[in-house]
Amino acid sequence: MKFDRCIYCFEPISGYPCPSCGYEDGAYMPLACWLLPGTILKGRYVIGRVLREEPCELVYLGWDTLRKQKVELHEYYPKEYLQRDITASEDTVCLPGKEAVFESGLQQFFERVRLYYQCMSRVDEDVNTEFFLRNGTGYYTKAYSPEIKK
Ligand SMILES: [Zn+2]
Repeated sequence: MKFDRCIYCFEPISGYPCPSCGYEDGAYMPLACWLLPGTILKGRYVIGRVLREEPCELVYLGWDTLRKQKVELHEYYPKEYLQRDITASEDTVCLPGKEAVFESGLQQFFERVRLYYQCMSRVDEDVNTEFFLRNGTGYYTKAYSPEIKK
C-alpha cells in the first residue's frame, strides 16, 4: 500500500516537502520510546507524530484508514514504570514488580475515557472512539480537533 499522505500532518502529498505544513522528510526526531510514524495499529490506524506527552499518555496524530480522517491516538504510557526501546520492539515492557500498578492504572485509563464518552455520545453522535490493547498496553482513539490545545 502506497501511503500518499504527509506523515506529519496527514494532508495529501505527492512528495516532500509537504505543501500543507512544510514538513521535510526526516525532520521529525521521535524519542526512542515513541512509536514510529508509519506504524499501523489494528490494521487500521497509521501512527504519525507525537502531538503531546501527558503524565501517563502519549498522544499521537493518527490516520484512520477506514473512515479516512485524522484521529488522536492515545497510548497508555506511564513512563515511571513502562519502557520501550523502539529499535528493539514496538512492545512496551513493565518494570518488574510494577505489573499490578500498571494493570490497575490501565483499567482506570479505559474506565475514565469510557465514562466520558458515554456522556459525550448523548450530545454528539459522531464520537469516534475505539479502545484496544496492543504492544503490551492500551489505546483509545478520538476525533482530532486541531483547535483544542492544552
Ligand atoms: Zn504535512
